[in-house]
Amino acid sequence: MKAVVYKGKGKIALENRPVPKIQDDRDAIIKVTLTTICSSDIHIKHGAVPRAVPGTILGHEFVGRVVETGSAVKKINPGDRVSVNVETFCGECFFCKRGFVNNCTDPDGGWALGCRIDGGQAEYVRIPFADNGLTVIPDHVSDEQALFNGDILSTGYWAAKIGEINPADTVAVIGAGPAGLCTMMCARLYTPARIIVIDTDEYRLNLSKEKGLADITLIPGRDDPEKVIKELTDGRGADTVFEVAGGTDTFQTAWKIARPNAVVVVVAMYEEAQELPLPDMYGKNLVFKTGGVDGSYCREIMDLTACGKLDAGFLITHRCALNDIMNAYDIFENKKDHVIKYAVNVKGE
Ligand SMILES: [Zn+2]
Ligand SMILES: [Zn+2]
Repeated sequence: MKAVVYKGKGKIALENRPVPKIQDDRDAIIKVTLTTICSSDIHIKHGAVPRAVPGTILGHEFVGRVVETGSAVKKINPGDRVSVNVETFCGECFFCKRGFVNNCTDPDGGWALGCRIDGGQAEYVRIPFADNGLTVIPDHVSDEQALFNGDILSTGYWAAKIGEINPADTVAVIGAGPAGLCTMMCARLYTPARIIVIDTDEYRLNLSKEKGLADITLIPGRDDPEKVIKELTDGRGADTVFEVAGGTDTFQTAWKIARPNAVVVVVAMYEEAQELPLPDMYGKNLVFKTGGVDGSYCREIMDLTACGKLDAGFLITHRCALNDIMNAYDIFENKKDHVIKYAVNVKGE
């Protein structure tokens, strides 16, 4: 089968690999129908994810059909159309029992797919702990609507949940990329008075406004986010800040635009260390919460998708076949052609 393989820092390739087999009785084998590229794949390619193992098939955001299940799998059956959770988790360890599945202590637990174990930029993939990591897609939800359920939509949902947003709050989101857009979409569920988004990309800002995800858009350089947000909030600052950009100075913006006692959720995955200037922020009494996602709410997110409360399908701006995925990587990595997300069609190969 065809698969995208991480070859070590700076290198990925589309190669032929054997079709995976069941290794444990809690595994399932999925025939991938639609897959996508995530900015985390780009971080791996850059060598910025130390735990990524060279030789691993990339891809942790995809949907497909179950073709085989191990004897201990109870909730999932061959033939089921499923979305896949970015995290594989045992469901039994200290962290899993508390919903903190990102820190599952099993060797295959946490974010392993497409990083430490073979992922879903491939025709087939083996999913450990299939009962925990697969979500059956209702018939009236399309593959494209379900594609982001387990990763970026889970990320936005988790971020909004831990952001402690109250009705009529002012929420600021730094970064209008795919994860930022999902964060805004999920923050809306908590009915804040306004969502302010900050990005340098005008196309993405317009998209967030067009889709009703943001009320106010700010461009650093043109606007002074700290000043504007303080003016909008009687001099206080934002009640919750989501840092979803991971730029060189965006962490600094995040704590500066937050009001005293605000929650600052750091969703971004940085490629470099960040400075925490404690003397400057002394007395602001901020609460920082940091990523990665605990993908514990996939069923809930699918239900919200099924009833029309969430719909991330609009993020798909580009489509291609698996054979053309290397070109898609180039467009996605270099943010060409206003790309937000790719839907890479695997089934038609
Ligand atoms: Zn991802
Ligand atoms: Zn666990």
